[in-house]
Amino acid sequence: MLKKTKIVATIGPASEKKDVLRQMIINGVNVFRFNFSHGTHEYHKKNLRNIRKVAKELNTRVGILQDISGPKIRTGELKEPFELKKGDKLDFYKEQILGVKLDSNHYKLSINQSEILNILKIDDYIYLYDGSIRAKVTKINQNYIQTLIENDGFLNSNKGINFPNTKINIDVITEKDRNDILWGIENNVDFLAISFVQNAKDINEVREILEKNNAEIAIFAKIEKFDAVENIDEIINSSDGIMVARGDLGIEVPYYKVPNIQKQIIHKANSASKPVITATQMLFSLSKSKTATRAEISDVANAVLDGTDAVMLSEESAVGIDPANAVDIMCKTIIETEKYYPYNKFDIFEYCDDTDKIMQSSAKLGVDLKVDSIFALTSSGKSAIKIARYRPNIKIIAIAHSKKTLNFLTIVWGVNPAILVNPSNELTLLLKDTVKSSVEKGLVDREKCYILTAGFPIGVKGSSNLIRILQKEQIDYYLK
Ligand code: PGA
Ligand code: MN
Repeated sequence: MLKKTKIVATIGPASEKKDVLRQMIINGVNVFRFNFSHGTHEYHKKNLRNIRKVAKELNTRVGILQDISGPKIRTGELKEPFELKKGDKLDFYKEQILGVKLDSNHYKLSINQSEILNILKIDDYIYLYDGSIRAKVTKINQNYIQTLIENDGFLNSNKGINFPNTKINIDVITEKDRNDILWGIENNVDFLAISFVQNAKDINEVREILEKNNAEIAIFAKIEKFDAVENIDEIINSSDGIMVARGDLGIEVPYYKVPNIQKQIIHKANSASKPVITATQMLFSLSKSKTATRAEISDVANAVLDGTDAVMLSEESAVGIDPANAVDIMCKTIIETEKYYPYNKFDIFEYCDDTDKIMQSSAKLGVDLKVDSIFALTSSGKSAIKIARYRPNIKIIAIAHSKKTLNFLTIVWGVNPAILVNPSNELTLLLKDTVKSSVEKGLVDREKCYILTAGFPIGVKGSSNLIRILQKEQIDYYLK
């Protein structure tokens, strides 16, 4: 494994062929994202089968992230596109109507979730068409609210709407989402990304659905609403990972605040040992071009330097002209950036529990002894993530007892989720299995030094409590 920062790539019409998928994995994809804003269950199933087939052929592990579309608020049907001008009036009706032009500077329409209109106040903003048109609430009537358009723009049917300063408090899990989550459970996806999360309650709602169905899937909160930024601590606390979803986020908060918010969220997620993905428009030009702009390359590099676990491709790999090329460009950028990376972050995190202390010691010891790799025996994946939090400039190899845990680690910075061993409460047996598998996989060279961490006995609650140094003599002993 050459790079430490992981790549998430969205699959779509441009990348669904097996040859393309194969090349994308070879070029550095660690996790595929299934965007449930588009496509039928049959369509996603076909893609899933192909990915799993290709990964097996390549003898590698890729994670599957199902992105749940959530309650995207949209304009209703318009009779014809509105050519809105600054100063025009736009009325939002509570009942469902066909959008029409009333006179030269006055229009009316409805939206798909009209109950939100009831909580708007005078001077609140409504952003239309992904933020390109701003409308300010000027009048509140029984049947509709009236807004004043603040800039020129075209508006079509079914375009995204944001309420950048109204806590809309809607249910983030729609009927469609529930059904899609059941698909994810049935098909064993590794990650569920939840759109438009507002607070911890939204995450807990998803967790309840999973628990009811006896499913263990990592829940990633997409931070793309202004109130999610305000509630970031409780959201990080209740979820298994975070996505900085800069597309919608840059509409919900002023666009110029996104870089700082990205840095703050990444730091908080690192601190809490929760993996974090930086997403959207990273190499956007590649949707239509073979080369990225210098600014885009810098964006990927800067997200890496901020400490993100993974960077993500959306349109670039789903509908772009050359998805494998997009992955290649991203991968090269990561590898180069990691040559000048702020490794060994031993004293910058506020949060530290017992496991953190042990993992900090392991990572420090590994750095001091210049070991080749740290082996982390981990049931849940947590201890591997906690070693990775310190960003040691050493390989981290995860050994787990379940594929589920190894798959979860595909998204975590620096972790190679390589080895599956049977759980055993006989420590020597466990070490034998581990060393044997690692040698078989070419992950151990007898001339080098290694560290192994574990919690023992397995399955007994408590922190990791064991650090072993493995050198030639020990390796030979366990191989006997
Ligand atoms: P989306 O989420 O691509 O599902 O909209 C990501 C974002 O908003 O950045
Ligand atoms: Mn979004």
